[in-house]
Amino acid sequence: MSITESALRYNIKNARTEKRRIDAENLLARHLNIDQELDQWCQERNTKYAQKQQARKAKRAQKKRERKANVLLSVQEEEKQSRYIPKSVQREVHRRDQGKCVECDSKVKLEFDHILPFSKGGSNTARNIQLLCEYCNRSKGATI
Ligand SMILES: [Zn+2]
Repeated sequence: MSITESALRYNIKNARTEKRRIDAENLLARHLNIDQELDQWCQERNTKYAQKQQARKAKRAQKKRERKANVLLSVQEEEKQSRYIPKSVQREVHRRDQGKCVECDSKVKLEFDHILPFSKGGSNTARNIQLLCEYCNRSKGATI
């Protein structure tokens, strides 16, 4: 109980006239009301603050997820672009190179190789793609 409340209760108890008692009661009622309003106001403010904090946190987490997703997406996109050789081009290269490694004539573990690497501006056209066996492809990779 606050000091004001106990003082008002004391006034009610010791009122010498009915009117003073009623006045004191009204004062107490107002005082308690104000207390309650203040409490409510504080509570609302705290709730709002907590909600705001939570929203901020959620937003940050969302942004983090989006950044991560974007990075992943661009990596996937790049990989797809650089590695995808159209089926028609694959067929054309396979036929032109007679189904064997252009370096050693091996017919096993053949791979499509960008003559000029995609990362250096090479295109996904038959002119820029050749058949290499895994072994020749790896040794080529080591010299570029
Ligand atoms: Zn080879």
